[in-house]
Amino acid sequence: MLVERYEQVEENVKKACQKVNRSVDEITIIAVSKTKPLSMVEELRNHGVMEYGENKVQEITRKFEEVSKPVHWHLIGHLQTNKVKYIVDKVVMIHSVDSLKLAKQISKEAQKKGVQVPVLLQVNLAHEDSKFGMSKEELLENIQEIGQLEGIQVKGLMQIAPYVQNPEDNRSYFKEMKQLSIDIEGKNFDNVSMSVLSMGMTNDYQVAIEEGATMIRVGTGIFGERDYSK
Ligand SMILES: *Cc1c(COP(=O)(O)O)cnc(C)c1O
Repeated sequence: MLVERYEQVEENVKKACQKVNRSVDEITIIAVSKTKPLSMVEELRNHGVMEYGENKVQEITRKFEEVSKPVHWHLIGHLQTNKVKYIVDKVVMIHSVDSLKLAKQISKEAQKKGVQVPVLLQVNLAHEDSKFGMSKEELLENIQEIGQLEGIQVKGLMQIAPYVQNPEDNRSYFKEMKQLSIDIEGKNFDNVSMSVLSMGMTNDYQVAIEEGATMIRVGTGIFGERDYSK
């Protein structure tokens, strides 16, 4: 059931790529396992799936310790500066760098542990108060300084698009993100790469791929509905 659902997502990714003449190799599916038991991660891992997303530090560190075979953990949720030290050496990427202050803290802890941390800068194009992320202006103001921090590798941008019934309603946000990444690339900042665009979730990942996503974060579409009542 779980593996079939993952394969269905792969199939949808393939179709979206074909539609716009992209190669499926350009797309990484992040299986968002938050709230889900490790047994489900392990089942997918046995099927060869390596990339998992979590949004809470405590959950990621617990799963990191307990998982039977190593996988790649991506932190996709808001990160408090006082918790950076617990995860800098446990994740392959932090998608949710939403301030210069946080970037500085990651840099500090990365240097302490002697690691390089690939990060994405989270942008909030829709200016939703309920979501973290820098405005376009804030991003452009801070990106050069973030790029210069030791221990951090800026790999691209991340966005959490608004929740919509019709995925087409988010197309313009995905387009705007792609354009923003092209604009930043054109500025040739030192140590700033724009090779990754993390956008698109269960509801809208096909549209995100059509507009240039290179990482999609799919939870419900793979693991089923989440139960927050427990
Ligand atoms: C939970 C979550 C997802 C996955 O959401 P689904 O709609 O279940 O696919 C993706 N990105 C972030 C940042 C999340 O917190």
